Amino acid sequence: MVLPLPLPQLFTYKIPDQLVDTVSAGCRIIVPFGQRKFVTGVVRSIHQHAPASYQTKELIDVLDVTPTMNAYQFKFMDWMAEYYLCAPGEVLQAALPSGFKLSSESMIQLNPLFQEASVDLTEKERRIIQELRSNTLSYKDISKLIDQSSVQPIIKLLIQKQAILLFEEVKEKYSPKIISKIRLADQYTTPHALANLMQELDKKPRQQEVLMRYLQEVPVIQTPGANIPGIEKTFFTASGLSTSSLQTLIKNKVFEAFEEVISRLSYRADEKKSVVELSEQQEAAKESILLQLDTKDSVLLHGVTGSGKTEIYIDLIKRSIDNGSQALLLLPEIALTTQIVQRLEEYFGDRMGVYHSKFSDNERVEVWRGLQEGRYDFIVGVRSSVFLPFTHLGLIIIDEEHEASYKQQDPAPRYNGRDAALMLARIHNAKTVLGSATPSIESRDAALKNRWGYVPLLNRYGNVSLPEIRLADMRVERKNKTVQQGFSLTLLSAIRETIANKKQVIIFQNRRGYAPMLECEDCGNIPMCTSCSVSLTYHQFSHELRCHYCGFTRKVPQKCDSCSSHRLKTVGSGTERIEDELQILLPEARIRRMDLDTTRKKNSFAELITAFSQHEIDILIGTQMVTKGLDFANVELVGVYDADRMLYFPDFRAIERTYQMIVQVSGRAGRKSGEGKVIIQTAQPEHPVFAFIKNNDYDGFFTRELYEREMYHYPPFTRVTHISVLHLDKKEALKTAHGLTAKLKDAIGSKRILGPQVASIEKLRNYYHIELFIKLEKDIKGLQSIKNKIASIVQNEHTLHIGSKGRIIIDTDQN
Ligand SMILES: [Zn+2]
Ligand SMILES: [Zn+2]
Repeated sequence: MVLPLPLPQLFTYKIPDQLVDTVSAGCRIIVPFGQRKFVTGVVRSIHQHAPASYQTKELIDVLDVTPTMNAYQFKFMDWMAEYYLCAPGEVLQAALPSGFKLSSESMIQLNPLFQEASVDLTEKERRIIQELRSNTLSYKDISKLIDQSSVQPIIKLLIQKQAILLFEEVKEKYSPKIISKIRLADQYTTPHALANLMQELDKKPRQQEVLMRYLQEVPVIQTPGANIPGIEKTFFTASGLSTSSLQTLIKNKVFEAFEEVISRLSYRADEKKSVVELSEQQEAAKESILLQLDTKDSVLLHGVTGSGKTEIYIDLIKRSIDNGSQALLLLPEIALTTQIVQRLEEYFGDRMGVYHSKFSDNERVEVWRGLQEGRYDFIVGVRSSVFLPFTHLGLIIIDEEHEASYKQQDPAPRYNGRDAALMLARIHNAKTVLGSATPSIESRDAALKNRWGYVPLLNRYGNVSLPEIRLADMRVERKNKTVQQGFSLTLLSAIRETIANKKQVIIFQNRRGYAPMLECEDCGNIPMCTSCSVSLTYHQFSHELRCHYCGFTRKVPQKCDSCSSHRLKTVGSGTERIEDELQILLPEARIRRMDLDTTRKKNSFAELITAFSQHEIDILIGTQMVTKGLDFANVELVGVYDADRMLYFPDFRAIERTYQMIVQVSGRAGRKSGEGKVIIQTAQPEHPVFAFIKNNDYDGFFTRELYEREMYHYPPFTRVTHISVLHLDKKEALKTAHGLTAKLKDAIGSKRILGPQVASIEKLRNYYHIELFIKLEKDIKGLQSIKNKIASIVQNEHTLHIGSKGRIIIDTDQN
């Protein structure tokens, strides 16, 4: 069996005789692990080979009647563990919603060997023992019993006196949602009986009122079936009717109270649409996709922003479902694509399951079960949806395939949802369509080399023009003194004009908070995080300094930590500051901000979107959240506040990411009118990436970027494995990293190893990061055995030199 723990091996347990018939592969079982601990695991296979190295223990219980996991999932998870060099247990941990795992709670029972007469007990102890004679108790029960909040000391004493035993009570985490309902007792559902009842209640007007309201909601006589489902009990309390009268009616058996298990996932199935209207160009693109899928497994759909890729997806999904297959649509982040999910619901209603991380565990378990029970044939979800129990997947669509957020950074498995989905499709023999307005270099390359099909869709829906893109040269404007609060005259006058025309504006700045740092004007000191080597971001609204890496916060200091000067200034601009300053420049404008700080609450994101789409907001300022998938008819201007910062990120993908981010955010402008304008503020307008963006020249950008990648041996020409050595002590981290580098050079050739070097953020959460890179040729022979060699060298170094003082992280496909 597999345990959801970061251990490299599988474990064998003995099946007790009485459970032999109930266990099968894929079932969840509870097993003892370590001292007094219980874990949920999943049965991989049932066999007759007792392990030689340890004594098998018996499993405790079987949790499933039908298996939770199937053979496709095991095959997929095996691939993932091998490819990303991690433990099968780590993959299982990522795959199973935690609602499937168990929580164990310590329970206290009386020691059967305890003899009360032989020891002295306090009054409280005696009371506990008394109670334990008939019940087992939790810590909480005991706390209530003796009216004392901390019960640990008293329990410890009782254990010493050998009076009690602790054990773990295992509980299933998933709990179905239950609602209380009411319906009219069967005997009153005839016209005659009902009339008599009304008469009886004449003298009890409040009870009569309750009954009347029920009959208004549930036409018992006119529609005989309507009484069976009844209505929710909360209906009466919500309409302000007397609860006690309702209780009396239940007691007198006029109403019947019952409970119903309901799904947490409800849809507006009533608005279901059946036909997708495709434009001529969409139709042609779809036909081309279908044609190419005849001979190829994957097709790249390169559709510019606003070209209507979603309609094509809907058509393809319907087709696949009609053929009796399951379909999966992957989106980078569901919260950011609320609009797409709403549109899909109109077509697929309750045959569609939505799976993402903002859902509760219970909701995720329901989607998983729903797929197994055949209630869904289409899932839309984030990267973790690749772990769902599909059995006959026919089509996977990966929207915005270039998105960095498909990659899981931490913890293991450090997988890319796009690449994993391609493997999942292969396992199911399914087809894949990858969509993007700005395809990743790797995907475009795969299409160019004919491994994948390629379908361009280079016009916007309805032949609306792409936005006009202009650069605001910040060097010139600064010299001319036309920059106000970080806004160029070019951008500011465009904003004024757009608002005057009753149109809307989006301003993009990929940095939240007020200012990235606070600086002492006298000594230059900058407050840093105590556990990371980064400056603390100034948040004006909450009046604190915050580390965006570890969450550390402190109050804004009144004076410099180092020289006690009071002259502290903020440096740089985050979204909070831009919002503030723009409001000063444009006092009449309705300005709102969309970033991590304003969207923490569950519905705040949706509220902002609604307010913006109803034009209650003139200017929306935001981080990368505003770049993705939003579709607002009235937005005519997009401003990129600081394009330069992105270009100098220390990463071989920096140019690609800059290109993608700016093109994506530009795509929010003029989607219906064709009057969209984009203004990019930069101090280096001559950088080639801006010319490609301005001229909408993806091919030019791609050709240049591919050339650079080949020159410097980066993907898609190589595979880059990133290894980080983390240690609390910098010297130790460096020593281990050097030792590791030497061993790797010996094993796989020194030319393939780069580093070690101190990471761009040297210290994070108190751990020093030293990194090294391994570049393997794309077509290298014996790739898996080389990877396994790397893993075993790393494992060895970890055991010898790091132990519990740090970690070594392997990321086989750095993103
Ligand atoms: Zn100072
Ligand atoms: Zn920090």
